[in-house]
Amino acid sequence: MRRIELRSDTFTLPTNEMRQAMFEAEVGDDVWGEDPTVKRLEELAARKVGKEAALFVPSGTMGNLLSVMTHCRRGDEVVMESECHLYYYEAGGMSAVAGAIPRLVSSENGVMCPDDVKRAIRESNIHYAPPTLLEVENTHNRGGGTVTDIATLSALEGIARERGMRIHMDGARVFHAAHYLGVPVTEITAHVDSIMFCLSKGLSAPVGSILAGTEEFISRARRNRKILGGGMRQAGVLAAAGIVALEQMVDRLVDDHATARRLAEGLSQIPGISVNMRTVQTNIVGFDISGLGMTSSQFAAAVAEQGVHFSTMPPHGIRAVTNRHVSMEDMDFAVETIKELAASVR
Ligand SMILES: *Cc1c(COP(=O)(O)O)cnc(C)c1O
Repeated sequence: MRRIELRSDTFTLPTNEMRQAMFEAEVGDDVWGEDPTVKRLEELAARKVGKEAALFVPSGTMGNLLSVMTHCRRGDEVVMESECHLYYYEAGGMSAVAGAIPRLVSSENGVMCPDDVKRAIRESNIHYAPPTLLEVENTHNRGGGTVTDIATLSALEGIARERGMRIHMDGARVFHAAHYLGVPVTEITAHVDSIMFCLSKGLSAPVGSILAGTEEFISRARRNRKILGGGMRQAGVLAAAGIVALEQMVDRLVDDHATARRLAEGLSQIPGISVNMRTVQTNIVGFDISGLGMTSSQFAAAVAEQGVHFSTMPPHGIRAVTNRHVSMEDMDFAVETIKELAASVR
């Protein structure tokens, strides 16, 4: 039976070129600053996003946590979208470890309105936690892969600067945002002080993310990474795959936008399923199955029996994340499978 993996782009496997590069990687002790392959990845990554320096980290979660640890003092407030990954899916680390508290801004589909952000940032007052960091997620995961455009970013930057705040971008999928906007990624990252992006998602590296910013910021983040136990020794074997990811896998991400659109268009024709086509911008398709009278988990289990795997956003949401292992034909097969299921339950 064919298997169509749409639960996440984290399921992507390393390419043969990555495995070869990992095999051949020249390595050393990176905690001592002696791994040439890690250094090469960090330099390449910094250049790619137009920042002075970059740090290779084991996960996006650690990259975001390091950003909070490095930009904030304990007791500071981080202004962020209410369903952002840092708040929703990172196990409370920003409070548990970095000692910061979130101030949540609600939005439609993950893209914050500058006016709402302005209202959320309170004036300096003895009663309030000092707001020191604004966090923007681009693309927004729970929002359905939605993109914050350059004008909005620029407005958000203006607000943060006016209040003396730093800005961090959770850019786990920032290259998708750049493709959608049709701009070089540096046009996006120019509006933030630090950026985290994932090598391990659509870019298909087995492990790792990048945190980038100024030299000074990254050298403090490097020390904080050691505190978290994220100092890795011969990490060049992993960084080698990251270099291939940045050199060979960025341009093809547009293919994942095409498969996502094909899936969304097919789904939108099925009675009982609703897709908000406005949010289908990159490689994530969120849809609602309330019209089928099933729960998310019942739906996911039923289509998984036919080899099509989705993740659930309970009670009635389903999420698909396209990636290099799924084709246009796979999307048609997924749509047919769901069409049959819908016909059988209605
Ligand atoms: C996946 C993801 C992360 C975290 O990455 P991990 O490597 O899984 O820790 C952070 N932010 C967003 C938006 C993500 O999608």
